[in-house]
Amino acid sequence: MNTLTRLLGFTAVLAGIALASWLVWNGSSPARPRNVILITLDTTRADALGAYGRKGIATPVLDRMAAEGHVFEQAYAHAPITLPSHSSMLTGLTPPRHGVRNNIAYRLAADQLTLPEMLKARGFATSAFVSSMILDSRFGLDQGFDVYDDDIVHYTEKTAKAIVTRRAGSTFDSALAWLAAQRKTQSDQPFFSWIHLYDAHYPYDPPLPYKQAYADSPYHGEIAYMDQQIGRLVRFLKDADLYDDTLIIVTADHGESFGEHGEQTHGYFCYGATTHVPLILSQPLYGVPGQRYAHQVQSVDMLPSILQALGLEAATGLDGLLLSSDAARSVFSEAIIPSEDFYLAPVHSLKDEQYTFYYSSDLELYDRKADPGETNNLVKQQPDLAALYRDRVQLVLDSSTQTGAKASIDQATIEMLRSLGYVADGGSAVASGMDPFLLPSPRHSVGIYRRLQALRQFEEEYPFKLIEGLQAMLGEDPDQILLHRDLGRLLVLAGDEDGIDHLQRAAALQPADPRLHTFLGLGYHQFGRFEDSIGEYQLALELNPEHLIARYNLGLAQLALGQVDAAERSFETVVEQNDKDILALNNLAYIAYRHRGDSGRALALIEQARRINPEHPLLRENAKRFAEPSGG
Ligand SMILES: [Zn+2]
Repeated sequence: MNTLTRLLGFTAVLAGIALASWLVWNGSSPARPRNVILITLDTTRADALGAYGRKGIATPVLDRMAAEGHVFEQAYAHAPITLPSHSSMLTGLTPPRHGVRNNIAYRLAADQLTLPEMLKARGFATSAFVSSMILDSRFGLDQGFDVYDDDIVHYTEKTAKAIVTRRAGSTFDSALAWLAAQRKTQSDQPFFSWIHLYDAHYPYDPPLPYKQAYADSPYHGEIAYMDQQIGRLVRFLKDADLYDDTLIIVTADHGESFGEHGEQTHGYFCYGATTHVPLILSQPLYGVPGQRYAHQVQSVDMLPSILQALGLEAATGLDGLLLSSDAARSVFSEAIIPSEDFYLAPVHSLKDEQYTFYYSSDLELYDRKADPGETNNLVKQQPDLAALYRDRVQLVLDSSTQTGAKASIDQATIEMLRSLGYVADGGSAVASGMDPFLLPSPRHSVGIYRRLQALRQFEEEYPFKLIEGLQAMLGEDPDQILLHRDLGRLLVLAGDEDGIDHLQRAAALQPADPRLHTFLGLGYHQFGRFEDSIGEYQLALELNPEHLIARYNLGLAQLALGQVDAAERSFETVVEQNDKDILALNNLAYIAYRHRGDSGRALALIEQARRINPEHPLLRENAKRFAEPSGG
């Protein structure tokens, strides 16, 4: 986080930005804003808002903002998933340049310079309020924020299940409390706040009365609810006499697919359904109130535009232009989930005003002017244009300067993230050195993806329905690694040893993927085959020495075999690699208490874990237990 050195790179002139196409400030423009609030509506399509023509949804707060400020009708995100897209907004760089290509498996590297770091260095108070564990501070977006409120995780009373998201109401409670305190103590200090709302993310379950009013379309009910909550912020700012001084930017990290190209939800493709996002400014910075802009803009344009709006020098080396500039842009977007999670080729795309090109192991070219739904692939009709685009995408990929810091995910985190649909820890499914474009195209496997997605909703309540569905799919497609992995995992959980065969098959089909060896190890473990499970964890750790889940479970297997010293070393290594690993700390405490007779150390370790996660039910229980004399 070498902010100062990086700040020296600032220039007084707006290098690299199309000055000629700036719209000049005029007398009717409002005074320069002092403060900025960035509101990101997770999973919100542009066309879901009244300001973008949606009928039958009440979004009066955003409609009014659009009528008083500006609307960008053609705004695009660079990734259809949360962490990479927000990383682009906060760094002004596309994913190949900031290096965060997927959720969970990556974190924003500390040497990246973020907007809050730039503003903090300019004397701004900075705060962030996020609503999903996917944006937990461990993923690196907390850089530069005085306050990064990711205090989301809590546990249900009955089942002790972790809740890892929060509603807009709770997020705004925190944000408004911060703003009020800020106003009281530092009334002259300008501020930058980022407020992230997760409500529109699947499953769609808006609170009353939206649940009732939008019974036919709960997705839109979530958006109406977020609009109402943004109204609380607007009222607060007006009451505090801050509204006119504060630029509010409302956008989304990505949209949501409702069957377009066979996709449900988001992440698998990067078509317009999941990359076309709303972008509304609360103030008419560039023209008359209510002015709408039809030129194409992108998430990375926000950072330079915020600096300009605040009257600060531009930063150099960014990927965006000013929002006010109608200079031509080629918007880069990518969907990495197919390669990292599904053993398929990734998709990278370039979007010009007229054409969108998708580069995967097959190619697609659409004329969005004639074909906004992107259904008529022109690659065969226009091979030269397609070849040109392919070279241009390759150039962007080659310009990737960041390999990205990998985030190592621990056992406790993956258990919590399971409720958001994450089964495996992140990490690439594709062996290094292999050309990902030789893998099958996600377009041709979307049927499998969609069936799997539909089946996974049964996991919690009707696992046998999911098992039957997976067995049927494997009958049609006997070499699908994912199907073997998921079926194996579920059978093992159901106590069926056939699960081991499927986990073995998955690991044999893709032996370079440490995740599959870990799954197989967990399978052996379930049936008491601890020696076998240790062998698999060790294979996983040879492939990735920082695979926390493999090492943590290695410790458990060693403990089960009475190898206390080895187990202790394994858990210690986990904690060395991730000092927030509450389960490894818990197990070190257990060893201290049970095997070393050292309840003082046991309690100290448990307290260390509880400072990280005070509510975790196991830690609470063990804190009580270890306070009793050891061996008792
Ligand atoms: Zn998202």
